[in-house]
Amino acid sequence: MSAIFDKVALIGVGLIGSSMAHAMRRKGVAGHIAGYTHRAETLERARKIGFCDSLHLDVAACVADADLVVLATPVGSYGEIAKAAAPHLKPGAILSDVGSVKSAVIRDVGPFVPEGVHFIPAHPIAGTEQSGPEAGFAELFDGRWCILTPPPGADAAAVEKLAGFWRALGSEVDQMEARHHDLVLAITSHLPHLIAYNIVGTADDLEAVTQTEVIKYSAGGFRDFTRIAASDPTMWRDVFLNNREAVLEMLGRFNEDLNVLQRAIRWGDGDALYNFFTRTRAIRRSIIDAGQDTAAVNFGRGKKDS
Ligand code: NAP
Repeated sequence: MSAIFDKVALIGVGLIGSSMAHAMRRKGVAGHIAGYTHRAETLERARKIGFCDSLHLDVAACVADADLVVLATPVGSYGEIAKAAAPHLKPGAILSDVGSVKSAVIRDVGPFVPEGVHFIPAHPIAGTEQSGPEAGFAELFDGRWCILTPPPGADAAAVEKLAGFWRALGSEVDQMEARHHDLVLAITSHLPHLIAYNIVGTADDLEAVTQTEVIKYSAGGFRDFTRIAASDPTMWRDVFLNNREAVLEMLGRFNEDLNVLQRAIRWGDGDALYNFFTRTRAIRRSIIDAGQDTAAVNFGRGKKDS
């Protein structure tokens, strides 16, 4: 295919940034891929892999003349980076991101967006528990959703161009309002991560069950939580700090439902437990039918799948 953008600037070359670069290269989506990172050591690691045409420790040099700039660092760093990049953005360029929260990104980046630059936030719903430039691979976005959350009044042609870019990277594209995105992701991604971090922490603190036993018998269910709880601490700290309201709302609902289950166990209410588990089993079937996982054992997960 011919390039969609002459120059794409990736701000951050970790799992998501490097996967975007590999996926762009696979289809020839960009004429030139520039990457920015803040540490020389990470830049050197990215240079060795060779997924960018140019690498920079200076944001201004990275975004100069770029037609698309994508923020792909932890969301807590977006405001500062946007401030540094803003004076150097090309008029008519699209400024986007891949952050796991969207209202806070609009709050932090929006004020710095210069006149004539199209700000269109995005979130690819694809990832693994790995991080850094070595973790990326071209197929990460294949068949996964990418949600665009254009602010009211966003340029329709720019939105469509960004949607076409994500389709070329292998994704399916959806659009929704930022606040709604944050609520949906609070239950489908943020709360599951919080629960995983918590259960692994609880197991680690137990005295009656030894560490060795927890590890030895982890296939009983615990193992799948440990995979999620191995996700990048900086990224997830920033997600919880920046989607506080939606996460707390979902956590409230979760605690209520957990109390109902606790009560059913206490009172020996087998019917309640059976009916609840039957309902949740059907959700698993819908996810498989929607092509978002396979029915293979071990949750159908390959080494690189999320
Ligand atoms: P990652 O693999 O840890 O990569 C983050 C990159 O940002 C690294 O190159 C890191 O460099 C750099 N960085 C960190 N702090 C920075 C700062 N203050 N200024 C400049 N650069 C900085 O993380 P990732 O998984 O690619 O996540 C990146 C973004 O994608 C996050 O906003 C996250 O919410 C979003 N996202 C993640 C997933 C997922 O499953 N992982 C899925 C969808 C969206 P150093 O290593 O040198 O610090």
